[in-house]
Amino acid sequence: MSVLILFNQDLITREQATIDIEDRGYQFGDGVYEVIRIYNGSFFELEAHLERLERSASEIKISLPFTQKEIQEKIEQLAAANRLHSGHVYMQVTRGVAPRNHPFPAKSDPVLVAYTKEYEKEPSRAPGKAIFMEDIRWLRCDIKSLNLLGNVLAKQSATEQNVDEAIFHRGDLVTEGSSTNVFIVKNNILYTHPANNFILEGITRRVILSVASELGIQIKEEAFTKQELLESDEVFISSTTQEARPIVEVDGRQIGNGKEGEITSSLHAKFVSRLS
Ligand code: PMP
Repeated sequence: MSVLILFNQDLITREQATIDIEDRGYQFGDGVYEVIRIYNGSFFELEAHLERLERSASEIKISLPFTQKEIQEKIEQLAAANRLHSGHVYMQVTRGVAPRNHPFPAKSDPVLVAYTKEYEKEPSRAPGKAIFMEDIRWLRCDIKSLNLLGNVLAKQSATEQNVDEAIFHRGDLVTEGSSTNVFIVKNNILYTHPANNFILEGITRRVILSVASELGIQIKEEAFTKQELLESDEVFISSTTQEARPIVEVDGRQIGNGKEGEITSSLHAKFVSRLS
């Protein structure tokens, strides 16, 4: 049986799908997206992802073509049809097709596309390395927009320098990673940038903060400087695909003892206990 994708309300094969050359997602990056993890055949934090999709869309004045409940049913059908066991669903909604012109068309029919990816092996969360990069993105990083050029260029620089992530900073203050949120631990206190317009409020970030409070770890949602990061005891990044991944070197400088820290490891263990 061939793998199916969701195209608006239809489950079809990838070959059957057609994207118009004047889809505004294609021409302007005018749309929003989500990546939702599946563990053992079940979605993780599905409702939170759908709520964030709705919020991102509404912030750029797109009304979703279906209700959250309908989208949930459709992507559950998609995952079931493809017998997805461990992997993720990528979904995006664009403003739809209109003659190319910057202002929105008077009437738009947003286009929803979703497809599944089965993991051949689990994404690595082996201790990684990072570089710092000036955050040159726009000031609405809270919107999970299809416009990812700032993130793409940063990750490309990281890849060219053989490291795993680019950690953004605005001036001295660390914001987030190119596709992750960033945490540090100093004197047993967990710090991460507050969820405002400078970062995407990661769903994994939220789960980490929730397990941290369950573990009685003191949390400060406060911005920290590059220097504070370099002098911290532990650094880790979080995302849907990488969970909580230790970072043990930044710009060639070792963090802490150069190994996964104890707090990172206990947060990850508690995170994993939420998956079943
Ligand atoms: N920040 C950015 C810029 C991201 O692209 C992502 C991943 N989509 C995250 C943070 C982490 O978000 P989540 O935990 O919801 O995957």
